Amino acid sequence: MVTDSGKTDGQSGPTERTRVVTLGFADMQTRARGRGPRCAWAERSVTLRQYHDEEWGVPTIDEVRLFELLVLEGAQAGLSWSIILAKRDAYRSAFAGFDASRVARFGPTEVAQLLEAPGIVHNRLKVESAVTNARAFLDTASSHGSFASYLWGWVEGRPIVGRPEVAAEVPVMSDLSVSLSKDLKRRGFTFVGPTIVYSYLQATGVVDDHLETCPSKPEYQTSLVQDDLGIEDRNRRPGQVPARRRTSSTRRSSSSSVL
Ligand SMILES: [Zn+2]
Repeated sequence: MVTDSGKTDGQSGPTERTRVVTLGFADMQTRARGRGPRCAWAERSVTLRQYHDEEWGVPTIDEVRLFELLVLEGAQAGLSWSIILAKRDAYRSAFAGFDASRVARFGPTEVAQLLEAPGIVHNRLKVESAVTNARAFLDTASSHGSFASYLWGWVEGRPIVGRPEVAAEVPVMSDLSVSLSKDLKRRGFTFVGPTIVYSYLQATGVVDDHLETCPSKPEYQTSLVQDDLGIEDRNRRPGQVPARRRTSSTRRSSSSSVL
């Protein structure tokens, strides 16, 4: 959907030893209300606005939601996000409430039924991708403790805060999405190109691209991650970006989380 610049690490992904990411959700909900307009795309419809205001960019470690967004982002390819949001309830029903362990057991019969199911995108590749991705999702969760640990391990548990001034500054992929895309493909995921993955990172809150003016932009004030990722720079000041995470990004970037 919307995006960010290549300001990320391009580093290797989390190791198999990565275990748990625990975000301080209470802290994350602290909002520094911008006084200007929302992110422009959010004004296109009531549905988009509600999604933007309540969900987009809110960090999540919920496995069901992480799988849901993976399926929906893949389904979106070539379509608008508005269309997918309108089909969300139908998707939820057709895909077992986005329970990956159930979707992973879908066979040819279920796939055939999904291709006739009301309200979802009847694209065989996308439907089969959801099943394939459910299996890869479970495999990845198994090797990392949870899919959240795998995903958030890429950013050491801290959202990458883009905070663009205008919509034109919001890119469609980043070094991180390229690296993550490659790793996801290696793990057997499909419909996970760098652009889809970037949109996924935004949706899950790994990347925060709310505009500087946006009333929904979160303010990251306190601890976002717990010990299990082995974060070293615990005394980092607010807004200080660790040296090892600085990149060749051409656009300003910051990590305003505080440990
Ligand atoms: Zn916004």
